[in-house]
Amino acid sequence: MKYFSGDVMSEGVAIGPIHHLEYQFKEQQKTNPEEEKEKILKAIHQSIEQLEELLKTDREDESYLTIQVLVLKDTVLKQKIFTYIDQGFSAYFSLSMVMEELKKSLLNSASFYLQERTMDFSDIEMRITRNLVGNAYKIWSSKFILVTKELYPSYLIQNKKNILGIISLQGGYNSHGAILCRQLNIPYIRSNVEVMEGQMCIMDTRKQQIMVSPDASQIKQYEQMLESLSNETFSAVPHRSYKFLANVSTNMELDKVLQYGFDGIGLYRTEMIFMNADRPLTLQEQYEIYSEAIHKFKDKSICFRTFDIGDDKQLSYARAYKKGIENYIYNKSLFETQIQALIKANHYNHLQIMFPMIASHDEFVFLKNWVKEIQKNLQDESSIKMGIMLETKEALERISEFRDVDFISIGTNDLILSIYHIHRDLQTTEMKQYLHDLIFKLKQVVEFCDASGIGLSICGELASIEPALREFMKIGVKNYSVAAPAIKVLNHIYKEFH
Ligand code: PEP
Ligand code: MG
Repeated sequence: MKYFSGDVMSEGVAIGPIHHLEYQFKEQQKTNPEEEKEKILKAIHQSIEQLEELLKTDREDESYLTIQVLVLKDTVLKQKIFTYIDQGFSAYFSLSMVMEELKKSLLNSASFYLQERTMDFSDIEMRITRNLVGNAYKIWSSKFILVTKELYPSYLIQNKKNILGIISLQGGYNSHGAILCRQLNIPYIRSNVEVMEGQMCIMDTRKQQIMVSPDASQIKQYEQMLESLSNETFSAVPHRSYKFLANVSTNMELDKVLQYGFDGIGLYRTEMIFMNADRPLTLQEQYEIYSEAIHKFKDKSICFRTFDIGDDKQLSYARAYKKGIENYIYNKSLFETQIQALIKANHYNHLQIMFPMIASHDEFVFLKNWVKEIQKNLQDESSIKMGIMLETKEALERISEFRDVDFISIGTNDLILSIYHIHRDLQTTEMKQYLHDLIFKLKQVVEFCDASGIGLSICGELASIEPALREFMKIGVKNYSVAAPAIKVLNHIYKEFH
C-alpha cells in the first residue's frame, strides 16, 4: 500500500476505484494515431456545430463567433495537431501544444489587436477540450474517485452522481469546483498522486491522506466509518437575531439544508443548473426546478442569483462575458427565460432575486426595470425583492448610491480578487495580506446598511473561515450564507460570541 498526502479542499471519506479524467489523453507514447485523429476531429466538429448553433441566435457576437468557426475549420490547425499525434502524442496533449504555440506567437506580436486575440484561442481550446473530455467521460458509468489535473465545475455537476471523491493536481479552496464539492459533500484533496486507472483507493481528509491499494481490513474499517458518517447530521445552535443561510447549487442539497436547521437559502447559484445541460433549459424545465425549491422553502427565505457565468463557469451554448450585466444583455433570451421561470414559480410571494457582479447603481436599476417589465408582460403582480451581490471594487467604492436595493450580499471571493488581485485559489492561505483592510472597508458597508434598513449578508467563502467569521461578527454582520457542512463553523463561532 502507498500513502499520499495533500491539501484538503472538501472534507470526507471515499472508497473506490480510480478514474483518470485525462486517462485516455495521458498515454502519450502508446496511442493509436488514427484513433487520436478521429477523437480530435470529432471534438472539433462538435465545437463547430455548437458555435454555428450559437450564431443562429446570437447576432451581437457574430464576428467573434465567426472568427472561432474559421479557426476551427482551418486545415492548418488540424495539420499542426496531426503532426504531434503522428509522433505518438495523444489528441489532448497535441491540442494543448498547438494552442500554446499559437497563443505564444500572438502574445509576442507587436500588435495589441493580435495580443487580444489570444483570448479567442483560449476559448477555442476550452471548447474543444470540453468536447474531448465529455466524449471520453460518457463511457465511464460506474462510481469512482476522480483524478484530474484541474477540476471543471461543469463536468462535476454533470457527473456528480458517479463521483465518490476527487483528487486534483491544481486548484484552490475557493475554486467553484471546491465550493461545489463542499456543498455536495464530495471529499476533495489536491495532491500529486501516482495512481493507475482502476486502482482501489481510500481518501481520508481528516488525515489529509490518500491510501492506494489498501488491504481488505482497511477497506472494511473505512466502509463502517462511511456508514456512520452518512448518518451524521448537524443542527444549527439557537441563534437569535442572526440568520444562518445556505449556499446551494442544486435541488439535491435542499433537504439537508432544512434538516440542519438553516433559516433559508442565501445564495442559489443558478448557473450550475444551466451547466447541467448542453443546451438552454426551457421555461418549463426551469419553472419545475425553481418551483420545487420554492415549495420546500415555503416558510423560509430563498434567494436565487441570476446565472453568473465566466472564468471556470462556462456553458457550451452561450458566451460568457467579463461583466455580469453583459452576460444578460448579450444572452438576452437566456436571461428573460430565467426571470420568467422564477416569476412563475413565485408561489408564496417571497421570491428574492440577486444580481451578480454589479459594478454601478445604474446597472442595478437597469436590471431591476428589466425584471419589472418581464413581470408586467406576464401580468404578474406578485412581490419580488431584488438585491445585489457586492463583489466588485467599483460597487464597494460607491456603496452609498445603492439605497434602493432590497438587500446586499457580500461575495468575498470576487471582491477580494477585485480589490487585492488575489486569485480565489489563494484567498484562504493569503488572508493575512488583506483581512484587516477588508474588515475596515466592510465595516462601512455594515454601517450604511444599518442606517438605510437594508438587509446585509455574506455569502462568499470567508463566511465559513473561522478567523474571518470572527471579524465579521465583531463588525456586526448578522446574516451568513455558507455551504451546509459549514454549519459546524457557524455554530462554533456564534457560541464564542454569545
Ligand atoms: C463570491 O464571489 O464570493 C460568490 C459568492 O460568488 P461566486 O463564488 O459564485 O463567484
Ligand atoms: Mg462571485
